[in-house]
Amino acid sequence: MIIPDTDSLRDRAAAALAACGARDDHPTADGTLIARSPITGGTLCLLTPSEPEQVTAAVADAHDAFLRWRTVPAPRRGALVRRLGELLTEHKSDLATLVTLEAGKITAEALGEVQEMIDVCEFAVGLSRQLYGRTMPSERPGHRLTETWHPLGVVAVISAFNFPVAVWSWNTAIALVCGDTVVWKPSELTPLTAIACDALLRRAAEDVGAPTGVHRLVLGAGPVGERLVDDPTVALVSATGSVRMGREVGPRVAQRFGRCLLELGGNNAAVVAPSADLDLAVRGIVFSAAGTAGQRCTSLRRLIVHSSIADEVVKRVASAYRQLRAGDPFAEGTLVGPLIGERAWDAMSAALVRARADGGTVVCGGERVESDSGHYATPALVRMPAQTSVVREETFAPILYVLTYETLGEAITLHNEVPHGLSSSIFTTDQREAERFLASDGSDCGIANVNIGTSGAEIGGAFGGEKETGGGRESGSDSWKAYMRRATNTVNYSDQLPLAQGVRFGR
Ligand code: NAD
Repeated sequence: MIIPDTDSLRDRAAAALAACGARDDHPTADGTLIARSPITGGTLCLLTPSEPEQVTAAVADAHDAFLRWRTVPAPRRGALVRRLGELLTEHKSDLATLVTLEAGKITAEALGEVQEMIDVCEFAVGLSRQLYGRTMPSERPGHRLTETWHPLGVVAVISAFNFPVAVWSWNTAIALVCGDTVVWKPSELTPLTAIACDALLRRAAEDVGAPTGVHRLVLGAGPVGERLVDDPTVALVSATGSVRMGREVGPRVAQRFGRCLLELGGNNAAVVAPSADLDLAVRGIVFSAAGTAGQRCTSLRRLIVHSSIADEVVKRVASAYRQLRAGDPFAEGTLVGPLIGERAWDAMSAALVRARADGGTVVCGGERVESDSGHYATPALVRMPAQTSVVREETFAPILYVLTYETLGEAITLHNEVPHGLSSSIFTTDQREAERFLASDGSDCGIANVNIGTSGAEIGGAFGGEKETGGGRESGSDSWKAYMRRATNTVNYSDQLPLAQGVRFGR
């Protein structure tokens, strides 16, 4: 396998950062935050993590900006996001290069991630004229009962390595049109993409005359995030990452009665019914399970197949898996890039050992691909006799466990028998089965699909999941409501003072 050397990756990173206007932002010779590329495992540059007082200052700046930003009419706030969308379009390939360098995504997926940013900006610009409140009929004569949505305050965005820019844009584009300001702590594994986005948003703010404090970037690992989580000036903490992280963040924010939007792990499954169009199903399964080297929150990790077609489905998926090329994510023809690092490979191999001990059979894959650097693995397809504990966990790597079922009720029970509730799908051409899967006693996930895989959501829908996935919703539909506060307004335009519920008080 031919992998580019770290020097050439470093040059590409420097060129992409410079193109985004971030040439001199942050790098230092003695920094302790290492920007690495999973392509080789080598160092791209050294950065200085934010000190605690810098995090506090960033929140204070964002709060000062909020006091002005909240009074700017929402459609004019939309102009900032429109400009950001234009700059993202102009720098699509620069940002995609950084995503590939830092997260290891193949070029097509990296470009897709930046397209998602552009799409959500477009959505948010439209939304800036549609932050509707309702008018309710008042029970009292001469009264009007309405609700108004107001900006909330400073939003802390804490993001994961595997969607280093899209998750930021889902939050930031919506928060900005809602009148909030943002402090972003990206994953410590992907600081350069964040520096580039911050530079583009700064430029957009200058171009439209918005306060530059509408966005602040802080860099570092968990402790930097904790500082944001505990800051009482932060009105909403939107945190994306592992369930472990959510367990730490959720109670801390609740302790100070802050608001939290959690987007945590998933253990996503697809049911394959006897009537499924298998050509279509296999394509959907392979993209969802092996795409992004199994490192999406929505990656397909469990396949629940009717016993009558299980051998055929496994044969077809295995045949597709054997044709997947793992390697340099920049190279044409590569479909599986590197794992993010050694820990991911260790987790993958440990899970496979446990699966075998539980009676599982590795049909194909699960091997480390020879390389001097980086951690590359072939996606693993594993038949399991039962849904054992390893199958019920999220291993953030390309492992697809196959289970079988006899009745749809049994398939749905297996499907829901995991702690997470993010994404799900059913492959069937039987409308009754499809509807049953989508019904209230069907899939218990925030995303339930028919005849497409579990990954690759569009920005127009609300994104998020139930149970240990955290319950948050981001991006489209009415997710914007999490970024605003609601005021109920009663106006009395009569000369009487009737009390609600007919209460009489005094005369
Ligand atoms: P992670 O939990 O290790 O880190 C995520 C972010 O949280 C990072 O920025 C990290 O620095 C920060 N963090 C960690 N501990 C913290 C603490 N105590 N306080 C504040 N911040 C803290 O996750 P990861 O390895 O970067 O990403 C992979 C995980 O994220 C997977 O579980 C995946 O399913 C999940 N994920 C979920 C979604 C979603 O929308 N549901 C999207 C992407 C990734």
